[in-house]
Amino acid sequence: MPDMQMPEHFDVVIVGAGFAGLHMLHQARGLGLSARVLEAAADVGGVWNWNRYPGARCDVESLQYSYSFSSELEQEWMWTEKYAAQPEILRYIQHVADRFDLRRDITFNTRVQAAMFDERTGLWDLRTDTGLAASAQYCVMASGALSIARLPDLPGIEAFTGKIYHTGAWPHEGVDFTGKRVGVIGTGSSGIQVIPAIAKQARELVVFQRSANFSIPAWNGPLAPDVQQDWKAEYRKHRARARELGTLYEFSDKSAAQVSAQVQANEYESRWRKGGVNFVHAFNDLMVNQASNDTIADFVRGKIRAIVKNPETAQALCPTDHPLGTKRICVDTGYFETYNRPNVTLVDLKRTPISLVTSNGVRIANANANADTDTDIELDALVCATGYDALTGAVLNIDIKGIGGQSLKQKWADGPRTYLGLMTSGFPNLFIITGAGSPSVLVNMVVGIEHHVEWICNCISYLRQQGLATIDATKPAEDRWVEHVNQAASKTLFPKANSWFLGANIPGKPRVFMPYVAKIGVYRQECQQVADRGYEGFMLERGIPTSQRLKETS
Ligand code: FAD
Ligand code: NAP
Repeated sequence: MPDMQMPEHFDVVIVGAGFAGLHMLHQARGLGLSARVLEAAADVGGVWNWNRYPGARCDVESLQYSYSFSSELEQEWMWTEKYAAQPEILRYIQHVADRFDLRRDITFNTRVQAAMFDERTGLWDLRTDTGLAASAQYCVMASGALSIARLPDLPGIEAFTGKIYHTGAWPHEGVDFTGKRVGVIGTGSSGIQVIPAIAKQARELVVFQRSANFSIPAWNGPLAPDVQQDWKAEYRKHRARARELGTLYEFSDKSAAQVSAQVQANEYESRWRKGGVNFVHAFNDLMVNQASNDTIADFVRGKIRAIVKNPETAQALCPTDHPLGTKRICVDTGYFETYNRPNVTLVDLKRTPISLVTSNGVRIANANANADTDTDIELDALVCATGYDALTGAVLNIDIKGIGGQSLKQKWADGPRTYLGLMTSGFPNLFIITGAGSPSVLVNMVVGIEHHVEWICNCISYLRQQGLATIDATKPAEDRWVEHVNQAASKTLFPKANSWFLGANIPGKPRVFMPYVAKIGVYRQECQQVADRGYEGFMLERGIPTSQRLKETS
């Protein structure tokens, strides 16, 4: 680590300059606070700056996946497509940074490595990889739920002499796959977007699939100006509904169990034709009733078999190991159709696992157990669409120490523990945006981010008005919240999938269902009630909390 400079002091330090960090900065300024954002990347944008892979696109409609805090901004920005592609979302975030003059308070190319609560001063001391140091009364983790990309642990991968890419750290200059033999590992949302795009360019594309996934067509297209105008005319009404419901879909009030197979089929067909995540809201019991879920899952498997011409490939592409929607549903543009192209091959890793990455490709075990040779697949490039250390990864990547030098990593060794998903006991004045224990990745994340920023800013205002130095979650309130979040998940089908929602994609990560499955409106009320009751379940102190106090209250 380079020599550290003398820390510069701020009221609030914010880690990350994506949607969350930028909004937090803007609102903190509005409160008259001095604020500094520390960002590892060279520019604003967060995931939309990192994920420049071909095909990267939002699956929440553009008019909804945007900030609501400024009416002028929402009226003046014109979206070109129903679902915006990565470059357009990045331009939007850059526009926000410029329009609100945010860049002057952001330090780029600076990764926070450590954050320590100093019991003598009551401040957070942050250390970075550039030697820059900062101290602040409040520290806000806007470091992202999906910002720590994971490369697969494959034997021999370091020996591969071709290029290796991760979708979440895509080269800014782009990649030309023309004439190349490309392998893609991973068939989650990123894989399902990048595969059709690479297939159009590469000489050969080999997709390595460990688990098949459900995907719904986006039917993306240009956003008609009149549709945009009509929506904008009613923006306040739409935003108010989004604050209750997250993304606005056609939510059904009927259960699949109540209606005939024909009614189900008609509903699924009509929603398939409209496309997008709206599909999974066809009935209101799909995420809680296995038999109902089977009906929608069967419908999608039928679609896959109808689209994919090779029956063996179609079968391998049919997900059978999890209920539909219990892994993040994917939305695609021509994904299943891609397997009808002559230059695309699917390798089902459940039948033929990768035994070795060689210097010039991938070796897969032979499907025939009696055959004594493995098969070598020669590749020029390997694209890893292998996901993220989600929800907790970015926070735990930082060496965070709270009262008494307690390490957050140790505290969360058996899974994340938060109160309201916003704070964790023993770490006063440390706020987390869209962290574990909040709806986070289960809703339109911009809606979740705005809610968290509002709550944090109201909380800081309250502390200041009351002359309070710190806020810290109590352990009993945190324990009750963790139990509440677990209970909520256990009433759904979500725990049935080995998903990143419960850390199953990271070897050794504790299996805990991390997001809170309640509707965001319910969650907002819960957070509001806590605030209205004088921050019930939190300890508010005029002085600086010490390790002695921690012992007394734990
Ligand atoms: P991020 O955008 O992840 O920003 C966090 C920032 O923190 C990053 O710039 C990172 O570099 C920085 N950072 C992290 N750690 C440190 C550190 N230690 N020091 C300094 N800086 C640090 N959500 C939806 O609701 N709808 C979608 O359609 C959707 N599509 C997505 C598509 C992709 C490809 C991905 C990866 C995610 C998608 N998401 C989507 C989820 C997305 O994470 C959120 O919508 C939103 O962009 C998150 O914003 P953020 O600011 O919280 O986090
Ligand atoms: P992901 O959903 O975690 O998918 C990772 C894929 O890689 C899975 O298919 C996984 O298989 C596979 N994989 C991981 N390690 C592997 C290994 N060692 N060998 C073989 N296969 C391996 O990650 P993601 O696709 O990047 O998506 C993450 C989240 O980002 C999404 O769920 C979504 O929230 C967001 N996102 C959204 C969009 C969008 O459309 N708006 C686009 C991209 C991302 P298993 O399933 O078997 O683990």
